[in-house]
Amino acid sequence: MSGILIVAEHTRGVLAEASLELIGAAQVAREKLGGPVKALVVGESAGDFAGALNRPGVEEILVAQSDNPHFDAAAMEEVILTAARVQQPALILIAHSASGGSFAAAVAVRLGSGFAADVTGIGFAENGLAVTRAGFGNKVNVELDFPGKAVVVLTVRGATFKAPEGAGNATITPLSVPLEGLAGRYRHVGFEEAPASDIDIGKAEFILSIGRGIQDEKNVPRFAELAKKLGATLGCSRPVADSGWLPKPHQVGLTGKVAGNCKFYLALGISGAVQHLHGMKHVETIIAVNTDANAPIFNVAAYGVPMDVFAFADALERCAGTP
Ligand SMILES: Cc1cc2nc3c(=O)[nH]c(=O)nc-3n(C[C@H](O)[C@H](O)[C@H](O)COP(=O)(O)OP(=O)(O)OC[C@H]3O[C@@H](n4cnc5c(N)ncnc54)[C@H](O)[C@@H]3O)c2cc1C
Repeated sequence: MSGILIVAEHTRGVLAEASLELIGAAQVAREKLGGPVKALVVGESAGDFAGALNRPGVEEILVAQSDNPHFDAAAMEEVILTAARVQQPALILIAHSASGGSFAAAVAVRLGSGFAADVTGIGFAENGLAVTRAGFGNKVNVELDFPGKAVVVLTVRGATFKAPEGAGNATITPLSVPLEGLAGRYRHVGFEEAPASDIDIGKAEFILSIGRGIQDEKNVPRFAELAKKLGATLGCSRPVADSGWLPKPHQVGLTGKVAGNCKFYLALGISGAVQHLHGMKHVETIIAVNTDANAPIFNVAAYGVPMDVFAFADALERCAGTP
């Protein structure tokens, strides 16, 4: 067993960013585990994604064509098992997504491999591969190793590893897997669009995010106006969305959106619960404003401002109003 197999994910003609992040994760793992790194893509239009997957560090792209235009967890499971038997990778990386979650554990069981879900760190210990994932409702970090396992399957949390930039020089190899016997195990019912929203937390580069510290719904327009003046996208913590102060697409975090493209995150009156940090702790520059100097948000902030959000907003409004 050697090398790393990453499993690409796509929906309605769009390759998931998580697939490219898996290439970044594979680059970290290969430092100790060795290569080659191969990408596997499955589907009716699988070949269309080979170009996008051809990033630096990928040696080979395995393209498994299927007749089904929709995602099919049974087909994914079967193709990955075939690829694993032929290619014999030591590590299989799958996105920690709704799709990935529908087949990853089954693949691990059928391979008799080690398994960890929602992995946020890849390292090495005495027994070989050692990974980090959150435990006890995201309250602690758990480190896992896989003694005696020749192969390990991991689902990797989004926005954790950086996708490599540029083009690679991977070869493209068709992979033929008979899937007829699986027909009917899964049935595609339809796509349901998320309610339309004019904001996209995942794409925003500058987010001004408000938490329960703003105290009342009536204060939301003031911060919305400030975000607009500063050219920021308005984000929020879950209690703000749950209370209906802002629509759900504004929510950052585990059950909201990951601020995957954000370079600058201004957290106003947010305590920094692990579920919120999940969506933003990777951001390069975080400024946190909170009256509680011991608030956990300050552990991830580049700049901590232990003061009242309203006084902070007064000062920013004065700056933003200055031509
Ligand atoms: C399964 C699960 C999933 C979850 N998913 C998410 C998620 O996706 N996103 C998310 O955000 N949360 C999520 N949560 C909730 C999370 O655990 C926290 O409850 C939430 O993030 C807290 O939001 P908050 O920081 O706005 O509020 P609080 O924790 O109440 O913090 C408010 C902060 O404001 C400060 N403050 C108060 N007044 C002022 C003032 N005048 N000036 C400055 N600071 C002030 C306080 O010191 C405090 O630190 C989830 C929880 C669970 C169990």
